[in-house]
Amino acid sequence: MKYKVAVIPGDGIGPEVTEQAVNVLNAVGEKFNHKFEYTYAKAGGCAIDEFKTTALPEETLDICKASDAVLLGAVGGPKWDDTKAKVRPEQALLGLRGGLNLYCNLRPAMLYKQLKDASPLKDRIIGDGIDVLVVRELTGGIYFGERELLTKENGEEVARDTEQYSTSEVKRIAKIAFDSAMKRNKKVTSVDKANILESSRLWRRVVEEVAKDYPEVTLEHLYVDNTSMQLVRDPRQFDVILTSNMFGDILSDEASMITGSIGMLPSASLGDNSFGLYEPIHGSAPDIAGKDLANPLATILSVAMMLRYSFGLNAEADSIENAVSKVLDTEYRTGDIMSEGKVKVGTKKMGELVVSNL
Ligand code: NAD
Repeated sequence: MKYKVAVIPGDGIGPEVTEQAVNVLNAVGEKFNHKFEYTYAKAGGCAIDEFKTTALPEETLDICKASDAVLLGAVGGPKWDDTKAKVRPEQALLGLRGGLNLYCNLRPAMLYKQLKDASPLKDRIIGDGIDVLVVRELTGGIYFGERELLTKENGEEVARDTEQYSTSEVKRIAKIAFDSAMKRNKKVTSVDKANILESSRLWRRVVEEVAKDYPEVTLEHLYVDNTSMQLVRDPRQFDVILTSNMFGDILSDEASMITGSIGMLPSASLGDNSFGLYEPIHGSAPDIAGKDLANPLATILSVAMMLRYSFGLNAEADSIENAVSKVLDTEYRTGDIMSEGKVKVGTKKMGELVVSNL
């Protein structure tokens, strides 16, 4: 089979980590007899430098739309970090999500037993490991609602952002959470602020409606503030966390932090059909860019998610995840997951180790 992949390396460590992920994808192609065809495109700071007026050129969006899936490194960096600037790198991310209708963000937060030391949590809390899947709504809510900045007659400024959800928006993301739970430990925790927000009360009602189609799945509701506490108190109580755009943004970062290794976690942003955008959860890490120091495993694991969710190639995805686990069984570590007695390796070497363990 032939698959078309749009590759957006982006800024900072983005090009370094995507290079390794593409190498792994090619090795999987050879092993399982698939052909991956790549089209490279620009987005983020590098696009601003070249096109001046946009972080997401129309051409990039077109390349993505003509592909079966998108692999993204990371965008942004101090060079473009002016919050007052009209064109900013992160506009590329919102543009890609909105433009490609990627309404579902899947972020697995998994703590590999080999990296237990990396977690800031105590051993008795971690137990035999953490494995939480955050399902975040990605194209609705306050990040996409109406916003306004007004100056009142007395000169005082007032700003307003709107949290808005429709029944259909909640329904489609809830279904993905329940479908995911069916393949895991059959529990969904829906997170909201229904004691205060009208949009949360609608969210809760719709989730309960969807739950009726999944009698095997246990549904619980938690307020977002309580969830943030529970994630550090007892993360093993969670299987799938279902939540809105802004709550998901915050909770998925917290969930990833308890695994201790930002360089290890992949993500998938999905729309209808099988199209998806896959990227590591970390940013462009300008402090280590161009130094062969970045951990490429999050991007490599993102490619595994691509194989599973966009191409339905489960054995191929498993082979990447197993290779990563095998590498972690050895003494080799990048700087971010380094611990005593281990051997430090760079981005390229880590990529090569995964390829040789496939
Ligand atoms: P960051 O994730 O880039 O870096 C945070 C820390 O983690 C840094 O010390 C960095 O060196 C380290 N780190 C990150 N990824 C690593 C990896 N793969 N291997 C080893 N160490 C790694 O977050 P930040 O510093 O807040 O942001 C830097 C830039 O990235 C900003 O411009 C920000 O806007 C952007 N950003 C982009 C995305 C994205 O493209 N999706 C996400 C977050 C931040």
